Amino acid sequence: SAFDDLIADTQLRKAIAEQGYEQPTEVQQAAIPRALEGKNLLVSSKTGSGKTAAFLLPCLQQILAQSAVNPRSTRLLILTPTRELARQIVKNAQSLLRFTSIKVGSICGGEELRYQKALLRKNPEIVVATPGRLAEHVAHKSTDFSGLEFLVLDEADRMLDMGLSEDVLKIVESCDAARQTLLFSATLEQKGLRHLIKQVITGEAEEI
Ligand code: AMP
Repeated sequence: SAFDDLIADTQLRKAIAEQGYEQPTEVQQAAIPRALEGKNLLVSSKTGSGKTAAFLLPCLQQILAQSAVNPRSTRLLILTPTRELARQIVKNAQSLLRFTSIKVGSICGGEELRYQKALLRKNPEIVVATPGRLAEHVAHKSTDFSGLEFLVLDEADRMLDMGLSEDVLKIVESCDAARQTLLFSATLEQKGLRHLIKQVITGEAEEI
């Protein structure tokens, strides 16, 4: 398929085909090659554009291509505003990872803290979280993002609207500064977003 030009990993390619994806969407076509080059990205994209796979695929490809420097630390963290969005991202990631042994953990409000602490202690390679609850775990030092390679902020404009930027920043402060950051937002022009971007992007970023 056309994804074979973008994604090298055969297990990932197989999962893409089983999902029924034939052609990359516009945002995937633009974001995947740039993200694979290791660039920080600021992407304006709406729900329904295929944005979830646009950030998942390049991160998963890079994770599968190289074994972890510090295998006991989480490698990819995805922050998203709501539990429902987190649930969808986890589902999408698990489908794409079905032929691999990579684990996805989810940390959202409304779930048992003790259970989440046990999950975080195992340092799943991938964590999908809503900011409020994850910030609590960061404050309790239950997380280890010291070896984080990829940080994704999904629907950053909505996280701002919902007053989650303080929690986001608390979490980001605990993440390895050498990471790659991908920020997705319906608009990049929103008030306050530039300020957030300055604090979460370490170095240069390309806009899509
Ligand atoms: P999203 O914008 O990430 O919420 O994706 C919207 C829907 O499009 C989801 O059901 C995805 O599974 C689906 N999708 C994502 N990428 C593709 C693709 N390249 N081809 C067909 N469907 C896709």
